[in-house]
Amino acid sequence: MIVTTAVEDIRKTRWSDPMLDWGLVPTMGALHAGHLSLVAQARQENARVAVSIFVNPIQFNDPRDLEAYPRDLPGDLAQLKAAGVDLVWTPGPAEMYPPHYQTYVEVEALSRQLEGAARPGHFRGVTTVVSKLFNVFQPQRAYFGQKDIQQVQVIKRMVADLNFNLEVVVCPTMREADGLAMSSRNVRLSMAARAEAPRLYRSLQAVEAAYGAGETDAETLRQLMRTELAQATGARIDYVSIADPLMLAELDEIDAAGAICSIAVFVDPVRLIDNVILPPRPITLPSS
Ligand code: AMP
Repeated sequence: MIVTTAVEDIRKTRWSDPMLDWGLVPTMGALHAGHLSLVAQARQENARVAVSIFVNPIQFNDPRDLEAYPRDLPGDLAQLKAAGVDLVWTPGPAEMYPPHYQTYVEVEALSRQLEGAARPGHFRGVTTVVSKLFNVFQPQRAYFGQKDIQQVQVIKRMVADLNFNLEVVVCPTMREADGLAMSSRNVRLSMAARAEAPRLYRSLQAVEAAYGAGETDAETLRQLMRTELAQATGARIDYVSIADPLMLAELDEIDAAGAICSIAVFVDPVRLIDNVILPPRPITLPSS
């Protein structure tokens, strides 16, 4: 496994055999089984797998969050080596954003919904760094988790709009046994908060069940989540959302296209996000 901070090393390795397909898994490190599931899928679908580890300062709107973000490079590299990764890029902020850096990539309206409203500038940071990663690695496929569903939608939009020549592959959310979505931030939960955190997924499951039983009124479904989350001691809702899958605008009524149901909740003081997809429904025509 080649580990480097230098763009030239990445390019040399990536193009040493131009016939091979490369899969790229972008991460911010502090790796867990969720990240490794992306690596495993990339391993299956490509001859070579590359991983980037970079805690991207420009996607953090809160400096304390950036400061507190967990980091464990030796542990990460050991896991990636065991997972059969070929190439790891571990740039620092100075390599990624050298002096006089001026260029940013922005997906417009979609980036301002939900996470974008709560964290202004967040997606501008994400799309800028992911564009750089795509240009440096030029992978055939790039792997992202459904856990960050808005990120997936924003990156898919960017790839289509800017004609990046690669496939965005979305991998399912990996969860702990009690349903809590795996996240690098979970290590910051106190014991009491960790005990309450599974309520997030339970509230999403309540929506899935109601939608499955035929409920399509979005406010009823949002209220269901609020009621479930109200039982979590010390939890504060940032948002509960039932939105259209393409633009993530809030819905009144879920139509045949289905919806994305997502939440962000502060649990003592860690901000957790999670989501489920409410699948499209076949349109039933009235019988004549
Ligand atoms: P991060 O290091 O948090 O930026 O995450 C890197 C990638 O791993 C992103 O595409 C995330 O969506 C994905 N990821 C994070 N947590 C999970 C999870 N629990 N299951 C699947 N993918 C995940």
